[in-house]
Amino acid sequence: MSLVQREARAAVDVAVIGGGPAGASAARLLAAWGHSVLLLTKSDTGHPSLAESLPPSCRKVFDAVGVREAVEAARFLTTGGNTVCWEGARPRAATFGGGRGLQVLRRDFDRVLLAEAGRAGAAVRIGVTVRDVTVPDAVHGRDERGRAVTAHARFVLDCSGRAGIVARRHRTRVQAGETTLALVGVWRRRDAWPLPDCNPGDGDDPLPSDDAVPRDDAQTVVEAYADGWAWSVPVSRHRRYVTVMVDPRTTRADRAESLRARYLAELGKTTHLARATGGAALEGAPWACDASQYGARRFGGPGFLLVGDAATFIDPLSSFGVKKAMASGWLAAVVTNTCLRHPDRAVLARDFHAQRERQIWESYRRQTAAFFAQVSRRELHPFWSDRSDPAGSDPVGVGAAAEAEGRDELVAALRADPAVQAAFEALRRAPSIRLRPTPSLRMTTVPAVEGREIVAAPSFALDAGAAGSIAVRHLRGVDLPALLEMAGEHPQVPDLYAAYRRSRAPVELPDFLGALSVLLGKGLLRNDK
Ligand SMILES: Cc1cc2nc3c(=O)[nH]c(=O)nc-3n(C[C@H](O)[C@H](O)[C@H](O)COP(=O)(O)OP(=O)(O)OC[C@H]3O[C@@H](n4cnc5c(N)ncnc54)[C@H](O)[C@@H]3O)c2cc1C
Repeated sequence: MSLVQREARAAVDVAVIGGGPAGASAARLLAAWGHSVLLLTKSDTGHPSLAESLPPSCRKVFDAVGVREAVEAARFLTTGGNTVCWEGARPRAATFGGGRGLQVLRRDFDRVLLAEAGRAGAAVRIGVTVRDVTVPDAVHGRDERGRAVTAHARFVLDCSGRAGIVARRHRTRVQAGETTLALVGVWRRRDAWPLPDCNPGDGDDPLPSDDAVPRDDAQTVVEAYADGWAWSVPVSRHRRYVTVMVDPRTTRADRAESLRARYLAELGKTTHLARATGGAALEGAPWACDASQYGARRFGGPGFLLVGDAATFIDPLSSFGVKKAMASGWLAAVVTNTCLRHPDRAVLARDFHAQRERQIWESYRRQTAAFFAQVSRRELHPFWSDRSDPAGSDPVGVGAAAEAEGRDELVAALRADPAVQAAFEALRRAPSIRLRPTPSLRMTTVPAVEGREIVAAPSFALDAGAAGSIAVRHLRGVDLPALLEMAGEHPQVPDLYAAYRRSRAPVELPDFLGALSVLLGKGLLRNDK
């Protein structure tokens, strides 16, 4: 019996299907938290890998997953921003405002994360293709020599990306007009790429040709054209991945020859990227991959969760796919840890997971729809208008959008509430305070993350006028139950603020005063001074 078979036959706490950013992140955390984890993933060789851009905000997620040091040690190319030719013909600088993003060849990046999962104690088995899952009990697959592999697990995480071994049954389809095909080519150029650099002060200077090492701030270039968009990610001074995003209904990609011709024809519709690739050599044949968005009707069930791209996919335009997948892996680890250690909280934890995943997907979807809408004002092709409607025909999306809007509406309604405004003014003038809860204070609970677990956290039922009654725990980052608990202990607002900052997260003063004004304005607290 092979090592894979022997290890895979043993029962584990968690089986993770897929070794992309979502799977590796979840596996690393769960193993680090003391669970036995088996990660099964296909081999990453034998098919091309994409080059992708990761925004600076990914670092927060690297910290949460515990891989920041390893990612930094891998010394990926860094970038200070993007060059965007989107609404008009002139390239525009879109800098990250001080932070630095990464340009990664995904195969290399994924290997760093997988190594970290292994170092944390997860058994990582590369070269196993999972075929079927009888959740939550067994995962069935085959290794590269065709031998059967069966893993028994108490919990299964489907992190298999677009393949969606468990997830594909639960997917929602987007409108036909929103399907997108990515055509990818790798280009090599010996001299400098004639591309505008978006660093402030650099103007339209091309990248210098005499760099001995890969230029540290080689930007992603994004360019819209009449019926598609193109982007280019550098992986070294000489190599760039150049991808065009097209509507597959009008761009057939079934034969290698026609795909190459189609790719070059699409690239020919651009201005800047056509010029940049003009004197460059195309390495190998271009290839195609599906880049259509999709959502999910459900995000898990007893003993299983859908994680990362297995659950939902956002348009690559956002450049947030990896961040979203790693954040999803982190959340799945917290939810799985809760389900395994506290089965009585399993439903609460899974509901929280589903709600969060829906909200995140919908919020990214709305962001990218807004970008497409910008171009649809200039270009009349349906490629743009079809992608400009964030709700589309997806019933799940509509629900989540409404939920997200409900939160925004709540904050807006509270800000405009005259009683809250009056309380704010009174607080600012009050020489001293003696805050007390009132009988109208109604406590309830909401699921929330506390460390590595989902808990039923105390919250308030807040009457938000037109937005209805909503369970609220945090307002503008302020933990309301915590604030309530300490409110009576301090005779001055500055003392209360300092005490809150010391014992809780450091929040800005206007947010703190705003939250306190809501408690007073809504009659949950009163000032007896
Ligand atoms: C054209 C394009 C460009 C993109 N550009 C960017 C970008 O610039 N920045 C960005 O952040 N995101 C980008 N994305 C999105 C990003 O690639 C994904 O969001 C991200 O990879 C999701 O990670 P994941 O772990 O959920 O899934 P994946 O990365 O897809 O990982 C799934 C894993 O499961 C394995 N697997 C699949 N089936 C099986 C099976 N049956 N058995 C075992 N293992 C299996 C796969 O081999 C893989 O390792 C882009 C996507 C596309 C399509």
